Amino acid sequence: MAIRNVVTEGDEILRKHCKEVREITPRLKETLQDMLETMRESMGVGIAGPQVGVMRRIFVAQPDPYDEDKVYFMINPVMLEMSEEKEMGTEGCLSVPDMVGEVERSVRIKMEATDINGERKVYDFEGFDARVMQHEYDHLDGILYTDKCSNLRDAAFDEEDYEDEE
Ligand code: ZN
Repeated sequence: MAIRNVVTEGDEILRKHCKEVREITPRLKETLQDMLETMRESMGVGIAGPQVGVMRRIFVAQPDPYDEDKVYFMINPVMLEMSEEKEMGTEGCLSVPDMVGEVERSVRIKMEATDINGERKVYDFEGFDARVMQHEYDHLDGILYTDKCSNLRDAAFDEEDYEDEE
């Protein structure tokens, strides 16, 4: 596995629509594993194809950094349902370094995707997991959380607040 360079905001790659994966090749699997490694290296919980310059409908997510068994390799994901019930939550993005903001997302979603072994599955996600999936899914259509967020701010401010509380 190898660490890939992460594309940052301002690069038009992040604004393009990704194409469907036609075949799960060894090269695609290697790309997905590299994405996982790159995501972990950067302490992220998700990473999408365009963020490493791969314009395919793929993303990797591990919503709980402490649960390494719960890694999702999503190939050609399709959003089947999004709850009308929404909630605000804080998000950041590896492509928008050192920033965070509040984004309204559906509380529950149903998503269909092919996994790294080529098996098509339907997933139900809720809460933070659902948030991560919606964020990554948006990347495949050239959408960044900064398009939807309020109170975009330097993440360091939040850390200062936290220190004050101690
Ligand atoms: Zn992102």
